[in-house]
Amino acid sequence: MIIKPRIRGFICTTAHPLGCAENVRQQINAVTALDGGPTKALVIGASGGYGLSSRIVAAFGAGADTLGVSFEKMPTATKTGSAGWYNNVAFEEAAKERGIFAQTLDGDAFSDDMKNRVIAAIRENLGEIDLLVYSLASPVRQHPRTGILHRSAIKPLGETFQVKTLNQATGEVSEVALDPATEEETAATVAVMGGEDWEFWVEALIEADVLAPGFKTVSYTYIGSELTWPIYWQATLGKAKEDLDRAASAIEAKLAGLGGNARVAALKAVVTQASSAIPVVPLYLGLLFRVMKEAGNHENCIEHIDRLFRTALYGNVPPRLDEMGRVRMDDRELSNAVQSEIKRCWPVVSTENLADLADLGGIREDFLKIFGFGIEGVDYESDVDPTLGQDVIKG
Ligand code: NAD
Repeated sequence: MIIKPRIRGFICTTAHPLGCAENVRQQINAVTALDGGPTKALVIGASGGYGLSSRIVAAFGAGADTLGVSFEKMPTATKTGSAGWYNNVAFEEAAKERGIFAQTLDGDAFSDDMKNRVIAAIRENLGEIDLLVYSLASPVRQHPRTGILHRSAIKPLGETFQVKTLNQATGEVSEVALDPATEEETAATVAVMGGEDWEFWVEALIEADVLAPGFKTVSYTYIGSELTWPIYWQATLGKAKEDLDRAASAIEAKLAGLGGNARVAALKAVVTQASSAIPVVPLYLGLLFRVMKEAGNHENCIEHIDRLFRTALYGNVPPRLDEMGRVRMDDRELSNAVQSEIKRCWPVVSTENLADLADLGGIREDFLKIFGFGIEGVDYESDVDPTLGQDVIKG
């Protein structure tokens, strides 16, 4: 099959197995040795974005054995799998080459069944784990105790929010009106993206007695600046992320006996499948990337997570925490120099001056890369077998 990108709105419905493998390989090559890091790690949401980078830093930086959990689409003879599917295959193959244990379990992380499967896999292969990275981004969650299917809504709170947005495919900047969420929609978003499932994971792992002394767990949040607050931090997603802060304290209390800790890490905005789906964010990312690249402090997913592990999670000095006890890795994005330039551009950015003010090329390139396209060294004209790796991942 000759595989080309097929973009529908903010997702690409095809993925290139060799391109995804090359993307994983480039991330592995970007990581350097990390002393004193994790030795046995579980990553929930391991197949893409920040979760994949976390698994790569744990395995190829620290040499950790890893278990990864994700929810991806298996390929068939006529349809490509999802990018995360191919990323998992490439990750496992690279780990095997280096003699590092890696196992990926594909299915719904919100379910009790997946928690049981992971615990069985830890008992069978690792004995215990010393790190849990919770990096899930999902639009829906079937609650394991009530059976209710919650659907998240990416909406402002209170009032209709009129804002600029970017159509990444056409480069058109326009105004959209975003209707506010109902109370039910806000509650559903907290149920999906809040901290309850993270707590359920840690409780199940404690009960199964598979956590090592000094066990750490980290979950990722985004805070951003005034420009994105109306659709993120002060909106439905922000309410869910506030619930992570609550969950971190509750989890930390449960870990006291192990001398462990639970942290929320505030990360920088990057292009991922999840962030591309949030209105306003692509335009903000375009401006942010231009400004940070010019300032010389831009980081991609793997560089950012490498710094998180090296400085905040496993650094020699205790990390700087904010008033809520969060690790702040978004310091460069939120610096005065970066934000004041973005704020200067925001009111004037338009379709006509987008090329000067924003790094549209950069965000488009990162978007295609997620699906394994536009990567140097990959021959996109040659026939490839989309079913690659079907025997590697345990569905
Ligand atoms: P992503 O879309 O790249 O990855 C999401 C992962 O979750 C994938 O591995 C996917 O398979 C997995 N997943 C989704 N539903 C699942 C389910 N039911 N069961 C098992 N796995 C499932 O997302 P991302 O942008 O890397 O986001 C990860 C975390 O980082 C989120 O908490 C997000 O809020 C946070 N974050 C992202 C950004 C950003 O700019 N992208 C910034 C700060 C924080």
